[in-house]
Amino acid sequence: MMKVPLNLSTMLERAEKLFPKKEVVSRTLTKIHRLTYKEIGERTRRLASVLVELGVQPGDKVASFAWNQHRHLEAYFAVPGIGAVLHMVNIRLSAEHIIYIINHAENKVLLIDEDLLPIIEKVKDQLTTVKHFILMTDQEELPESSIQPLYSYEKLLASGDPTFAFRKDIDEYSPAGMCFTSATTGNPKGVVYTHRALFLHSMCLGLVDTLALSETDVSMPVVPMFHVNAWGMPYAATWFGAKQVLPGPQFTPKILADLIEQEKVTVTAGVPTIWLGLLQEIEKSNRDMSSLRSVVCGGSAAPVSLIKAYEEKHKIPFLHAYGMTETTPVVTVSRLKTYQNDLPLEERMLIRAKQGLLVPGLEMRVVGDQGDVAWDGKEMGELLLKGPWIADGYYKDERTAENFRDGWLHTGDIATVDEEGFVKLVDRTKDLIKSGGEWISSVDLENALMAHEAVFEAAVVAVPSEKWDERPVACVVLKEGFKGKVSEKELIDFLAPKFAKWWLPDAVVFMDEIPKTSVGKMLKRALRDQIRDKVKVG
Ligand code: ADP
Repeated sequence: MMKVPLNLSTMLERAEKLFPKKEVVSRTLTKIHRLTYKEIGERTRRLASVLVELGVQPGDKVASFAWNQHRHLEAYFAVPGIGAVLHMVNIRLSAEHIIYIINHAENKVLLIDEDLLPIIEKVKDQLTTVKHFILMTDQEELPESSIQPLYSYEKLLASGDPTFAFRKDIDEYSPAGMCFTSATTGNPKGVVYTHRALFLHSMCLGLVDTLALSETDVSMPVVPMFHVNAWGMPYAATWFGAKQVLPGPQFTPKILADLIEQEKVTVTAGVPTIWLGLLQEIEKSNRDMSSLRSVVCGGSAAPVSLIKAYEEKHKIPFLHAYGMTETTPVVTVSRLKTYQNDLPLEERMLIRAKQGLLVPGLEMRVVGDQGDVAWDGKEMGELLLKGPWIADGYYKDERTAENFRDGWLHTGDIATVDEEGFVKLVDRTKDLIKSGGEWISSVDLENALMAHEAVFEAAVVAVPSEKWDERPVACVVLKEGFKGKVSEKELIDFLAPKFAKWWLPDAVVFMDEIPKTSVGKMLKRALRDQIRDKVKVG
């Protein structure tokens, strides 16, 4: 067979040639843009030529500081198309971490979304490697800025070459993109994605048993393009010629519902918090969500109650998947096997709330104190992964040794595997609760709490206990209309029949909001600090 390197530019070239009329719909601060793949292709080539003019060399790193919008998509292909690397900076990190990751990745060029400029202005004096700042805006005139010179993306594109040829001599193992993942302590850790990894991962997203992305889809990644490449959807959707909807800056559940209705979105992806918000929106306003064939949910455990609300009440198919920054990200997808479809509804839901089956192409082990665990759905161990889209280390980081050993990525996720091979995450190592020498899964307790009709969100965290080492405490946000009407005792009584007595939380703390990380996950560390002195545990 021919030795042809797997290369990202072939994806865009295919969309240009075979699907030139199909659309990318992009929401920016000023309007909804509609561009065909022909236009996206030309604009991407213009951007690539401009970057070369600015002196970007193969292997150099170009950063984006942007929402999900069409210019960001152009950078997704233009930067790797010249052999450079796109660093998708998480816009929600602290100023200190933004400075660290841009300097650590030695970014030469920074592409900035209009409304995010103030954040960069505040840190610009500490960015030691960036030579060119480019503003992605719809406005003709650039705003006053302390950053000088500041280029206009559109003006640069106007001077670019729409026929620019992407490089064809790129080794498939060379880097194309990078994202940072937040560390429990210290600075974020960088993960570099190769052309090969992104190519194979995109192909995997097209498999019918994974996300089944195809030309027939209208794909709307809500997960940010700076969070593990929006889970790979922009690459795959472009490659397959699917219509794309990019929801843009500062979106709300209402904006998402509007886009789904107007653009007839078929597949969308995001963290559970997003889907809780959308659920509230569709419950209060009469919406036509009938175009949706799959709401993909990952990043944190999808509670059974959430899956049920979408599927049973609103007839919207829901799909639970698992992955991490280090895994490009898709690792498992929770779809029933054909013969499981005959099981009673409750059983099917419990299986679908698991993280699911390993996707084709990857290898896994779940390792406990005694070696590989039995596939009995009970024995717990750490999930280890290997495969062509699994990282083999962090970018220039001595913490690599903590997570990458013996050829495996040690995920830090504690899991069980059932007889059918379904992986269920019990907790992250750092969130497990150790009480009297035994482990308690915060995820199981949260799932059960969220099944109560009054509970909007729940997080269960460990609080230090002299007697037991740690005890679980539940932090609960009640739904509107239930505030002040549900007691601590009522919730504990609700859990009691489902768990061993020692698993039951020692206290329930009602709050208005659960603190979230930069990518919308519950920030358990902050929660622990917030409540540890406020509650009494056994
Ligand atoms: P961070 O480490 O910054 O949270 P990632 O987005 O890479 O960044 O998070 C990966 C982690 O998120 C996984 O290791 C796992 O603990 C958690 N996670 C991802 N998907 C799921 C899921 N479907 N269910 C439970 N946890 C999940």
